[in-house]
Amino acid sequence: MGEGERLDVRKTYKLYIGGRFPRTESGRSYLVCDDKGRPWANACRASRKDVRDAVQAARKAVPGWSGATAYNRGQILYRVAEMLEGRREQFVDQVARSEGATRRAAADAVDKAVDRWVWYAGWADKLDYAFPGRRPAPLGVAAQVIPWNFPLLMAAWKLAPALAAGNTVVLKPAETTPLTALRLGEVIQEAELPEGVVNILTGAGATGAALVAHPGVDKVAFTGSTEVGKAIQRTLAGSGRRLTLELGGKAANIVFEDAPLDQAVEGIVNGIYFNQGHVCCAGSRLLVQESIAEPLVDKLKRRMATLRVGDPLDKNTDVGAINSLAQLDKIQELVASGEADGAQAWQAPCELPARGFWFRPTVFTHVAQSYRIAQEEIFGPVLSVLTFRTPDEAVEKANNTPYGLSAGVWTDKGSRILDLANRMRAGVVWANTFNRFDPASPFGGYQESGFGREGGRHGLAAYLDLS
Ligand code: NAP
Ligand code: MG
Repeated sequence: MGEGERLDVRKTYKLYIGGRFPRTESGRSYLVCDDKGRPWANACRASRKDVRDAVQAARKAVPGWSGATAYNRGQILYRVAEMLEGRREQFVDQVARSEGATRRAAADAVDKAVDRWVWYAGWADKLDYAFPGRRPAPLGVAAQVIPWNFPLLMAAWKLAPALAAGNTVVLKPAETTPLTALRLGEVIQEAELPEGVVNILTGAGATGAALVAHPGVDKVAFTGSTEVGKAIQRTLAGSGRRLTLELGGKAANIVFEDAPLDQAVEGIVNGIYFNQGHVCCAGSRLLVQESIAEPLVDKLKRRMATLRVGDPLDKNTDVGAINSLAQLDKIQELVASGEADGAQAWQAPCELPARGFWFRPTVFTHVAQSYRIAQEEIFGPVLSVLTFRTPDEAVEKANNTPYGLSAGVWTDKGSRILDLANRMRAGVVWANTFNRFDPASPFGGYQESGFGREGGRHGLAAYLDLS
């Protein structure tokens, strides 16, 4: 396929407010780049006036949407899912080119987004059964702010439960990946969601800040960095408005000496190099039992040497593009700090394309727990290896970060899996696998990884008053 053949990209994208794509009030726009860092299209920077208009449109749509028969709401959500599925290839291209995700990762994300819409569509007319003995009522207008990784999937995680529960929404996608959300807006428009039920405001952090602070918003749902999550929490403090935060992570992927090592190596690679490590629940710390540390790291390096980094649209690519120059700078800065601290870096010896933002899959050994590369989220294809001797030491090290989003355990012993899952402060613990998702299972963090759960009935409850 030649570049852009399947994807028809316009030059300028507008905001989606009240069921229409009007111009931004202030008329200011900015340049959006593609996966190779080339100019791609212009998007609007939504102003305060646009925020007011969008919240007003969402407010106006509340009685109609919350009062619609639950069956009818479900039907419309199914239609969105069907239409996304029908445009799967276009959305795969869209996600790959906007995020830098490989075709494989983008296809996986599109399929998972469809699953999420279907799953929550099914709940729309069963809310009373989801919460027996309670009288679930929608909250009203939800402001939803999402990050640049998995732009279609994160939108599905946010929109599907909110809409199934009868709320209306103003969605703010990330500055670098706004077009995916707007294309979803086109689908939503064609699926005949009543006007104003979903509104999409593109722009940077200032737009997001104005949106979450708007008094007409009843609920804020945010996915992104811990730093911004804390700022939003401060803004909402004392307002009585509901808030859920899905923030960063620094997951431990723990490998015991009795684990099937070849499988574990695949799990480690998938855990940290999938989607260039642009994954909040990435297994960015490998905790390996001392007795097998050397052979495991050797195996891992041999496997890493086979990874192909490059053009996201090439179906043979394993690791795609870093989303932006700013993200590449952040990765490079943290990797330099690891080297300065005394850790040893090894990089897969792959070729990189000349143009764009790329980073070689990297593994650090000789890492102390205090190093920044063992504490801070890098959000790139960089793994830090630490060792342990006993299960207690593994748990202690796994829990030794301010985060608590996810973890992995690799062992032959079922009892050990259960024991560790109980003692680790992580919202999700995978056993002999990693990065598995199901719309029915809740996902979310402890500590600085946020609070509230998305997915499952927990994800519905976050958009309902259950008095
Ligand atoms: P980010 O900088 O925090 O941005 C997230 C979103 O918030 C973007 O739309 C951003 O707009 C907007 N924003 C920025 N400042 C704001 C403010 N003061 N008030 C309101 N909104 C504001 O995060 P990111 O760099 O896009 O994404 C990476 C982060 O997301 C990582 O930390 C990752 O772990 C986390 N994440 C968590 C999950 C989860 O489920 N726990 C899932 C995916 C990602 P701009 O784009 O203009 O900055
Ligand atoms: Mg940002």
